Amino acid sequence: MKIKSAEIVISAVKMEQYPKDDLPEIALAGRSNVGKSSLINLLVNRRKLARTSSSPGKTQTINFYDINGQFRFVDLPGYGYAKVSKASKEQWGKMMDLYLNNRKNLIEVIQLVDIRHAPTQQDKHMYSWIKHFGFNGIVIATKLDKIKRGQRQKQLNLIRKELNMNSEDIIIPVSSESREGKEELWELLTEVFRV
Ligand code: GDP
Repeated sequence: MKIKSAEIVISAVKMEQYPKDDLPEIALAGRSNVGKSSLINLLVNRRKLARTSSSPGKTQTINFYDINGQFRFVDLPGYGYAKVSKASKEQWGKMMDLYLNNRKNLIEVIQLVDIRHAPTQQDKHMYSWIKHFGFNGIVIATKLDKIKRGQRQKQLNLIRKELNMNSEDIIIPVSSESREGKEELWELLTEVFRV
């Protein structure tokens, strides 16, 4: 994929702020700190387009990134950060619900999980939510560089099993650090976007 332009359109806190055109969107869901921002930066070859952070639990926004004026990546607010208040958890649920239920532009929601760990209860909920909405249930296993080569298949199998994935469901391991998996992921994304 040749990236001619990549820019943030808006960090939205409410629906009225979502972009109003009809460009297709692929949204990324996952735990805070799973590597969503790093993945967006990797995909578009920018070091700092999406804000990465080593401290999870940053402000809850839905971030829209325009790519080549052709489509958008949408960074959904992360979940699973222990220290957030009940009110903020409720706000997270409302935001997600409004976006996933109403967004006509949305063509796919991709679930990110850390390849080192078994999916959490919330990961499992998120994944079944995604399937419930009728999306394919593509999974990206992040931080591939953090495990030994010999551990890869075992971890991928574990994630498949814990998320209840079907044999035809796709899981792609990626490292934003070593860039491994990037081309395979783009191949899939161009298929999904049909660009
Ligand atoms: P987000 O909260 O999901 O957007 O996660 P970030 O992209 O901000 O990443 C959280 C932390 O994990 C940061 O310190 C990143 O540098 C680190 N990180 C993200 N992806 C990778 C990866 O593929 N490999 C390694 N080693 N670290 C990563």
